[in-house]
Amino acid sequence: MKRKILIAILVLIILSQIPFVYRRYRLRRLHNTIQQLATQRVFSFDATEYVDYKGVIHVHSFLGGHSTGSFSELIAAANANQLDFVIMTEHPQAEFDTSAMTLNGSHAGVLFINGNEVATASGDRLLIIPGASNAATMNTQSTQQIIDQQKASGGLAFAAYPDESLNWQSTKVDGVEIYNLFTNARTINRFVTFFDGLWSYRAYPDLMFANFFARPADNLNRWDQAIANTNRKLVAIAGNDAHSNVGVSLNDSSGNQLLGIKLDPYERSFRTVRTHVLIKQGEGLTRESLIEALSLGHCYISFDLFSDASGFNFSVANSDKTMGDEVALRTQPRVIVRTTLPSRVVLIKNGSAVEQKSGMEVEFSPDGAGAYRVEVYLDSLPAPVTAQPWILSNPIYVR
Ligand SMILES: [Zn+2]
Repeated sequence: MKRKILIAILVLIILSQIPFVYRRYRLRRLHNTIQQLATQRVFSFDATEYVDYKGVIHVHSFLGGHSTGSFSELIAAANANQLDFVIMTEHPQAEFDTSAMTLNGSHAGVLFINGNEVATASGDRLLIIPGASNAATMNTQSTQQIIDQQKASGGLAFAAYPDESLNWQSTKVDGVEIYNLFTNARTINRFVTFFDGLWSYRAYPDLMFANFFARPADNLNRWDQAIANTNRKLVAIAGNDAHSNVGVSLNDSSGNQLLGIKLDPYERSFRTVRTHVLIKQGEGLTRESLIEALSLGHCYISFDLFSDASGFNFSVANSDKTMGDEVALRTQPRVIVRTTLPSRVVLIKNGSAVEQKSGMEVEFSPDGAGAYRVEVYLDSLPAPVTAQPWILSNPIYVR
């Protein structure tokens, strides 16, 4: 009798693992597809007036309190990903100025900017770039007051976690963090992630992301709505919100780690999602040119884990205008999307998908005034990321 029960339990355990074996198989298939895509990328450098610089925005170090990441880990992770820039956004501390103490300037060939993440008295959270020595007292100021201070000193303010408070929508904020990797990673089911970890983490640590990745539909809606309601430009960026502290671990009674699944070490976070900026050829990447490109919306978001999107552009034909720029409807503009892989491009006008075309260079003719942006999809990506986007562009504003 005892033996029968034991056998039954054993069978149940084996059966319960079948889904996780299948999920490992899916990651393997995704891994192979990503490798194939990497060999198919084609660059057409001609005809572009811009240079594509890739980097990450919204990064915390040990200075802010709840992260353990060191400067050397950060620099090594940026180098391993061949990033051009990293924008730090340290939490303020009452006793010292975290923006003055964090990485700033060029380190091992990577440009760092020393920003802060602050909570405002209006309930919003802002990424201020660069940071400010009075960041620790900004929780007593309104969102608009902080934005005004940033503007006066030539800096930027972006609404982070735009779902937590909607007061930013009625301010003159420069833009919105429409995707946050940390927020997305927190949607994981710990039970599922634990078993996924047992089966897949060793072979495909980077692709654990694919198991929870989802297009940020709600934030995209909030952003589209805010642009439509205010009739002004709002720049979209992605936040890595890298802390190096999200995951699941199993320890024995004396604290030794038996299994550690870390979803956001810097190196992996920096590989997953990036904000690319376009800077005019000859200007080069500097603190000033980077801040200017971000303020103009000359940037896009790419889930580079699937394929490094460098070389992408969404621009106005026969002009030097790109994402973030305005063009007059009376000039009957045509907009061009160029990608480094054959992809499906969805044109979105004022928040609604209006047209889609496939190829490596596709063209659309806007049929009226509005904010036009594109989402780019790689249809060859298999589950679990089928129908998830590769690139999210900033809009071209047809006036
Ligand atoms: Zn943060």
